[in-house]
Formats: sequence, structure tokens, C-alpha cells
Amino acid sequence: MTTLLRGGRVIDPSQKIDDVLDVLIEGGKIAATGRNLVDDGKGKRKDAGLTVIDVRGKLVVPGLIDIHTHLREPGFEYKETVESGCAAAVAGGFTSIACMPNTNPVNDNRSVTEFILRQAQKAGLARVYPIAAVSRGSEGKVLTEFGDLKEAGAAGFSDDGRPVMHSGLMKRALEYAHSLDMPVVSHCEDRQLSTGGLMNEGLASTELGMPGIPTIAEDIMVMRDILIAEYVGTSVHICHVSSAGAVRIIRQARERGVRVTAETAPQYLLLTDEALKGFDTNCKVNPPLRSAEDVAAVRAGLRDGTIEVIASDHAPHSAIEKEVEFEYAASGMVGLETSLGLCWKLVEEGVLTPSELIARMTAHPARVLRIPGGTLKKGADADVTVIDPKKAWTVDIRKFRSKSRNSPFDGWKLPAKAVLTIVGGEIKYSEL
Ligand SMILES: [Zn+2]
Ligand SMILES: [Zn+2]
Repeated sequence: MTTLLRGGRVIDPSQKIDDVLDVLIEGGKIAATGRNLVDDGKGKRKDAGLTVIDVRGKLVVPGLIDIHTHLREPGFEYKETVESGCAAAVAGGFTSIACMPNTNPVNDNRSVTEFILRQAQKAGLARVYPIAAVSRGSEGKVLTEFGDLKEAGAAGFSDDGRPVMHSGLMKRALEYAHSLDMPVVSHCEDRQLSTGGLMNEGLASTELGMPGIPTIAEDIMVMRDILIAEYVGTSVHICHVSSAGAVRIIRQARERGVRVTAETAPQYLLLTDEALKGFDTNCKVNPPLRSAEDVAAVRAGLRDGTIEVIASDHAPHSAIEKEVEFEYAASGMVGLETSLGLCWKLVEEGVLTPSELIARMTAHPARVLRIPGGTLKKGADADVTVIDPKKAWTVDIRKFRSKSRNSPFDGWKLPAKAVLTIVGGEIKYSEL
């Protein structure tokens, strides 16, 4: 199949392109990017099977990559399956997603990794990169077989959902991952400081009388992981940064040359702990929503490149886990289908340029995960997302492809939407 995306504004930060161009897709690859690739009528090319898609007024970008998603299969298929998660991904403009290992059983051995990859293959929607557990059962005691998991197709290691509390284990994980050139993705939370807390510790928690989780529960572990990475001489990737302290610590570490990368998620850029005042369990996330000062600092860190990746931390939960008292509700919100639209608010508010935002959702996550994608270079796999930057829409949780509905953004008006998602040259989602 040969497809021409005609006349869109091509934004490809990997090649520093921001220009009105055509994109030609042939044999599942990017064949060319340029002006007037196929002339009307007279035609420099005359492929019989050419499909022309008019994308004038729209943005053509490398397929979005989500470095941090939770698919609930195996074990919690009622919340999400690999297939329903992939359907949500392509509807949100994502062509590649990395899924965390806190399934049941935990993805701590090759049979689970291979199972997830098989399910992804069967679904045939987005590319799936399984992240395997750092420790057996994510219990923080014994390292998993990193080499074996890499061979099976794991793209990195994380005990996400739980922190690696044991510093010695984290050191060995960074050493082994380094020898395999694999990323370690760290959920930073000092459990001795966070246990019992239900929301950010601050003014709002005092007013609500809820036990708090202090920002230092995050900051201390970010600092520890950076110190270990620096000592070992390797890199570490910090998950879902939510606090001003974490941003400051990462910025300082990068200035002295430590190879630390970081992500944040839309909720830490757009919501504060004030949102908890309605006791909406959809606003219960881990790390918790923080204060306005933290949000400002995370935004500043995103803008200056301290945080170079935006992830969804898509965490589907069913009503059974969420429609309960706040104390007992599970943490997490879905994100794949709202992430781009929410982030576009940052463009509207002047926090990021379109190109800066696209870099944080394409080229940067690809680099951190060391996976292909994130580019429209000639010869690359044709993973392409077309965004309508003027398509205002209202979030309606009933329309989600995800099996879960736990989003606090229901009813929000968002300024932009992915309208066409192409994976390997094939259209996987379209509302054109
Ligand atoms: Zn986490
Ligand atoms: Zn997570």
C-alpha cells in the first residue's frame, strides 16, 4: 500500500523539521518527505494504488510514544487487556507503548513477556514494548534474569507500582541493565515516608483532615537513584515526576553530567491537590497530585528540558476499585485517550511550542527506551500521527476504547485531537 499525506504541517523534532510538506509512505516505511511529492494530474509519480489523504491544516508528526502505560493483562483483564489498551493507544495517537510489569503474574520471566508480545501481535494495533520487573514478583528481594528477559523481548526494567526500596538491589539492577544497554525505570517513593498517606501532605490535606504523603518521599528516592547511577556510571530514568524538589534535584544532577532522564504525566501539569476537595477517587494517583508550586516547578522543568518526556501513566481501574471510600480506592487514572489533548493546553498556554511538545512525546521517549520510532526519517517504519490542532472536543468517558473509565477529565473541553494513527504504514485509527 502506498499512501500520500498531502499538505500537512510536518513537525519532526528528530530532524528539526517544521514545514508544510507531503509525506509518502511505501511498503510500511517513510519513502519521502518533501514538497509536491506527487503532482496533481501531471504526476512525477503515477502509482496506480496510491491513496492520497488530504491533511491540509493538520499536523503530521512521528507516531506518539508512551513510555509508561499499564496494560492489565495477564491477571486483571476486566480492567484492561493488551487489545483494549492498544485500541485506546491508537485512538489517542500513540503508535508505541511501553507497559509496566505489575500484572498477575508479574512480568518477571520470559513466559509473561512473550505472552504480552503475542497478545500485542494478535491485536495488531500499536507496538507494545513490555517492561519487565527488576525483582522477582516486584518484591524487591531477588533480581530477575535480565539477560533472559531482554532476549524474550523486554525493553527495560522497573518495579513500577512499587519502589525498589533496597539500595543494594537498585545498584545491582543499574549495573546489570548497563551491561545490557537497557533502561531502568524507577518509581521513586520512600515507603517509610509515604505509607498511610492518601494525598499530598500540605495545606489541602490539613484542611481535609487526610493523612499526607510528603514530597520528600519522592525527592529522597530521586536523589538516591541519581547517586547510585552516578556511582555506577550509568543512566537511570525517573518515573512520573510530581514535586518541585525532584525537579530541582534532577536539574542539578544533569548539570554535573549525571545521565538521568525523567518523565512527568499530564495530571502533574494540570491538576493540584485542591482537586481532592470533592473526594473524587479518580484524582487519587501515586505519586499524589501536588501543590500549585509543585505544578509550576514541574512545568518549568518540562519547559527547560530537565524533564524531557511526557508519559500517560495510563492506569485503568474498574468501578469496583474506584467507587469506594477514598481510603480504599486504588491509585491511578486512565490517560492514553486524553494525554495529547490535555498536553495541547500547554501549547495554548505558551508553556511549550508544538515542536517541543511533540519532541517530548516522540523522539525523547524513543531515545530513553532505546527503541526505534519517534522520527519521520526516510526509511524509518511509517509510524505517523496526524493531529488536528483546532479540533476542540469534550472528553466523554463513555466513549473510551479503554475498558476503564477512571478519568477526572470527563467533561473537559480539550483543544486538539489525534485524527489519524498509522502504524507500519497501516491505518489503525481514523476520524478523517
Ligand atoms: Zn509508578
Ligand atoms: Zn505507573
